[in-house]
Amino acid sequence: APSIVWFRSDLRLADNPALTRAVEAGRPIIPVFILDDEAPGRYRPGGATRWWLHYSLRALADSLAGKGARLILRRGPAETELPRLVKETGAGAIFWNRLYEPWANERDARIKTELRQRGCEVESFNARLLAEPWVPKTGGGEPYRVFTPFWKALVALGEPEPPLPAPPRIEAGPAVAGDELEDWALTPSAPDWAGGLRESWTPGETGALGRLDAFLDGDIATYKDARNRPDKPATSRLSPHLRWGEVSPRQIWHAVRHRIEAAGGGAESSAWSFLRELGWREFSYHLLYWWPDLPERTWKEQFLDFPWAEDEAGYRAWTKGQTGYPMVDAGIRELWHTGWMHNRARMIAASFLVKDLLIPWQKGERWFWDTLVDADLANNAASWQWVAGCGADAAPYFRIFNPLTQGRKFDPNGDYVRRWIPELARLPDAHIHAPWAAPQQTLDAAGVRLGETYPVPIVDHQAARKRALEAFERIKKQA
Ligand code: FAD
Repeated sequence: APSIVWFRSDLRLADNPALTRAVEAGRPIIPVFILDDEAPGRYRPGGATRWWLHYSLRALADSLAGKGARLILRRGPAETELPRLVKETGAGAIFWNRLYEPWANERDARIKTELRQRGCEVESFNARLLAEPWVPKTGGGEPYRVFTPFWKALVALGEPEPPLPAPPRIEAGPAVAGDELEDWALTPSAPDWAGGLRESWTPGETGALGRLDAFLDGDIATYKDARNRPDKPATSRLSPHLRWGEVSPRQIWHAVRHRIEAAGGGAESSAWSFLRELGWREFSYHLLYWWPDLPERTWKEQFLDFPWAEDEAGYRAWTKGQTGYPMVDAGIRELWHTGWMHNRARMIAASFLVKDLLIPWQKGERWFWDTLVDADLANNAASWQWVAGCGADAAPYFRIFNPLTQGRKFDPNGDYVRRWIPELARLPDAHIHAPWAAPQQTLDAAGVRLGETYPVPIVDHQAARKRALEAFERIKKQA
């Protein structure tokens, strides 16, 4: 009887324990990917991640073909498709790598029980995290609510398992019917909004490993100092590759550690500051595991009564990168073009939505879900709650990002703004982050007509800040 390998968010051949286990089992293998848009409900992959998935699946199918196997594509609820496939093929075993989204935990547990009852061997593995989210625990046996002790506990677990090599050969199972990738229409046609995404990324395992290598060869050395600078290509941009599991955190961890050793002392602190960010990813998964309603519900109870505003016009301006605050708008426009936004810009843009406009964080979270190529339930939810001040170990609410000072500090020459807002490109550095305060003749010389070529600010930041702090005072009194 053949074995099924069920690919999900692990679209790679190397360090793929489910695949390795299937190869070791010594029976022919049927690799399958099921597009299940029902189980996740609202959290089915959004537009940008679907685009990514298309190319990533194509890459996976190619590399499987190179090893002798054929990727089968099925669409529908996995709970029906998988048992159907087992029946069609007479498979005796099924292997997969675990997911941690609450909808997936429940679905997969049911599938496991059902298939085992039918006599099928089912085994699942960790391929997505450095440590299972239930492993790090406080001395009192509780989950962590604060990052630093969580990170210490994670590091104290010791090095993660070394990554597994890709299997040299995969014995193909019997021919099985499957869908054509093109028929899934995961990529946009009219309008085709994906031009900038195609320019920016190479989805798939080879693209992911290439990105990792390039980062280790170059920017990791300066990561610690430059990671907050959206004007520089200083971060790894591995997030969308991690989203679909084209590379594993274990592979990244070991590659980084290897490089540190090879380089000697100097690179160490920069490399650790990078690994620590992977730690934040683990922390998000830890929080999502213990608080499954993290994507929906404000973590700090006191914020359940927060007096949010309805501001449709403000929301629309924000989603279009037309708020009149260059640092906010540059971030959003980078997102429109590439499907990715620098972390610093994400924090500034998110803070503007929830604090300057008082729009509920869930609205921004949902919009990111659809537009980010790295949209990840745990990271997105935890990060929005962090910015909104209502999450576990969040920024204190009263620390409100000022888009002007943030711009001057993290984009000191205005390169980031000029790149994404060409209509402001000719403004001198001194005014690039605050066109509203520039003398008329400076605006004229730069061809900027406020209210026409670029908006006047949709809110006054100082007044908005005061309004946000007053709103916070109200919930503080109630608490
Ligand atoms: P690097 O700086 O190179 O970091 C390496 C890896 O560490 C990243 O790929 C990512 O997996 C992880 N990481 C880095 N920063 C964080 C962080 N703050 N929290 C958790 N993990 C982190 N990240 C997502 O992967 N998906 C999301 O949907 C997402 N939504 C976000 C929403 C908001 C409002 C904010 C403020 C942040 C969000 N992040 C999200 C976190 C972070 O912005 C991205 O992970 C990071 O910008 C990805 O770029 P990189 O791969 O170059 O990161």
